[in-house]
Order: sequence, then C-alpha cells, then structure tokens
Amino acid sequence: IERTFSMIKPDATKRNLTGAITKVFEENGLSVVASKRVWMAKRDAEAFYAEHKERPFFGELVEFMCSGPTVVQVLEGENAVLKNREIMGATNPEKADEGTIRKTFALSMGENSVHGSDAPETAAREIAFWFSETEIV
Ligand code: ATP
Ligand code: MG
Repeated sequence: IERTFSMIKPDATKRNLTGAITKVFEENGLSVVASKRVWMAKRDAEAFYAEHKERPFFGELVEFMCSGPTVVQVLEGENAVLKNREIMGATNPEKADEGTIRKTFALSMGENSVHGSDAPETAAREIAFWFSETEIV
C-alpha cells in the first residue's frame, strides 16, 4: 500500500468539482486518508513549487494557486503515485487521455484542476509539507 499527495486546484474548487474529482479517485481504488481546504499564501505556493522557480510559468502558477481555495489530500492505495498520475492525465488537458480528470474537467495547461506527486519520494515530501502524521487516518 502506498500514499500520494493530491491537490484539487482553484479552477476546480471554484466550479464546485471537489466531490466529482474525489469520486474519480475513489472509483479507481484510491482512498482519501486526509483532506482539508486551504487558501494558499503566496509564500506557501512559492515554497511548495520551489522546484519550478526558474521556469517561465512560475509567477503565473503561484498567482493561480493563490486565486482561490485548494483541497489538499492524501490518497492511499496500491501503486497510489502512479495510479493517480494515470487518473489525472497529461499536464496539458488537450493531450490527456479520454476519461482522465484533466480531459474531463481541466480548462488549460495552467488551470488543470489537479496536482499529483510524480514519485514516492516527492509524495513523502509533499505530504509532510501540508499534513502532520496525526491528520492522516
Ligand atoms: P502537477 O505537478 O501539478 O501534478 P505536472 O507534474 O503534470 O503537474 P509540472 O511540469 O510539474 O506538471 O508543472 C506543474 C504545474 O505547473 C502544472 O500542473 C501546471 O498547472 C503548471 N504548468 C506547467 N507547465 C505550464 C505551462 N507551460 N504554462 C502554464 N502553466 C504550466
Ligand atoms: Mg509535477
């Protein structure tokens, strides 16, 4: 059993898609073992996405992530990291496979509805960034 970190991004919370997206996780065998809504401060978004700080879209990404509430979650299941990446689909919704969350719900490359950790080591770091162990049950 494995854990991954997920975020339902502001474009999705604003369109009232929290339940619809969470349902896709659950239908695919991922359990929500921690969940909370956060309205990120700029310094949190910058720290969370520090690995992207040299990329041209960094400012836009930080601004978007602070534009409304986000739902941060820990998902648990078999091969949770890889499974969640499959369920989300490609970063660019136009390139995402049919049936994926981004194909179904995302608006653009930036406003792409969900984040998911890209490796188990990343997941551990990202989970620890937002949750204490006692919040994960
Ligand atoms: P995430 O890390 O959110 O799960 P990802 O791993 O598919 O997405 P990354 O390359 O890590 O994609 O980029 C992080 C996020 O930055 C993307 O999800 C997207 O919101 C934003 N982003 C990436 N590339 C661009 C771009 N070219 N223009 C605007 N925003 C972008
Ligand atoms: Mg990524």
